Amino acid sequence: MAHVWNEVNTVAVEAEYDVCVVGGGVAGVSAALAAAREGAKTCLIEKEYCLGGLATLGLIVIYLPLCDGHGRQVISGISEELLKVSLKYGPGSLPDCWKEGGNIEERKTKRYLTDYHAAPMIIALEELLLEAGVTIMYDTRFCSVHRENGIIHGVIAENKSGRIGIAAKAFVDASGDADICFTAGEKTVSLNTNRRTGWYFSMGKDGLVRHGLTDPIYTEIPKDSRLYAGDKHEDVTQHAIDGRKMILKHVQALKNESDPGAYPALIPFYDGMRMTRRLSGAYTLDEKEVFRDFEDSIGLTGDWRKPGPVFALPWRTIAGVNNANLAAAGRIISVTTDMWDITRVIPPAALTGQAAGTGAAICAKTGVAMKDLPVKKLQDTLRANGMIIEKP
Ligand SMILES: Cc1cc2nc3c(=O)[nH]c(=O)nc-3n(C[C@H](O)[C@H](O)[C@H](O)COP(=O)(O)OP(=O)(O)OC[C@H]3O[C@@H](n4cnc5c(N)ncnc54)[C@H](O)[C@@H]3O)c2cc1C
Repeated sequence: MAHVWNEVNTVAVEAEYDVCVVGGGVAGVSAALAAAREGAKTCLIEKEYCLGGLATLGLIVIYLPLCDGHGRQVISGISEELLKVSLKYGPGSLPDCWKEGGNIEERKTKRYLTDYHAAPMIIALEELLLEAGVTIMYDTRFCSVHRENGIIHGVIAENKSGRIGIAAKAFVDASGDADICFTAGEKTVSLNTNRRTGWYFSMGKDGLVRHGLTDPIYTEIPKDSRLYAGDKHEDVTQHAIDGRKMILKHVQALKNESDPGAYPALIPFYDGMRMTRRLSGAYTLDEKEVFRDFEDSIGLTGDWRKPGPVFALPWRTIAGVNNANLAAAGRIISVTTDMWDITRVIPPAALTGQAAGTGAAICAKTGVAMKDLPVKKLQDTLRANGMIIEKP
């Protein structure tokens, strides 16, 4: 390997890992946890100084439902574990009916979700990964890959030590923006239709209050606004600036109308775009395929927007096509734009993270390409770790 790293002017080569996860949002945390629990020597690289991504630094602190809205739980495994972890050091609790022995009838009308706070979640996620033996590298930004003949040998990243190479047998792209997929030659799809957002907390006469500011998602954009692409640096910067202007305007209105002492107490430290760039994999799941069974299902998700629909997520929406040892996780899996709105939220992001991490551990151990993984073995492992794979 030495010549490889010299070519890209790396200053240091990290130890070889079985699995390297890029991105420490909920998807990356789940992937790293799943891989480490399968016995893989795992590292996670994260450009910020803490875990959680949108779900902590972005102040997106509503863990959307694990159920179908008709009283049936459809997501479990690590995704359910993270929901509970979000409450470990903070306020809030599970809905009573979803606690063990809770009222089954009530579950039909009350969904299995929770609000939480970002700081306790950051601490609890980090603790979880350290306990599992994952090597965390903060302040480490993925820049490039070294690949030959459809196999990724290592990722190149930059941090305080300079430019480093991280070698591994399998990789999970949990960057939220499909950064590895794009760089490593996978087909990707980008959306330039992101709306202005500004989730923040104000402090005022009622204490700390959360505000989920956003331009309307499904209707026309306001006249004073615009659309943004997540893979264009000018748009990313402008989105952050415009979001903060939106917050300031909202606080001014609070001050003028009812709360003269109000001020912005917590603003997002991570840009709030919903759907930026995704993998275009061997299969692209569509919203019309609701209730369809797939032989390579790796888990189920409900629809956070309404009760009823249940979707099986095929492994082919996750496995890399042009790279034997790459899997995608979280809000970047291969789904149509309609379906993207369903799979981009926290519970399915954590679910696909668990599947990708488990698949990466199997790939690292056996050397079998992700797209050819023995699906039954993958499903058995996921099932043994709490995942619901078959429809209720
Ligand atoms: C405005 C808004 C409102 C939302 N509302 C909700 C809601 O109420 N409930 C809900 O469940 N979901 C909601 N979502 C969606 C949800 O928060 C996210 O889609 C989900 O958390 C995605 O998780 P992820 O791990 O896939 O990606 P991310 O959270 O984006 O994590 C990606 C991680 O990778 C890191 N990273 C990125 N690039 C690199 C790189 N080059 N090198 C190293 N690290 C890198 C990032 O720092 C980050 O930590 C909302 C999203 C938005 C934008």
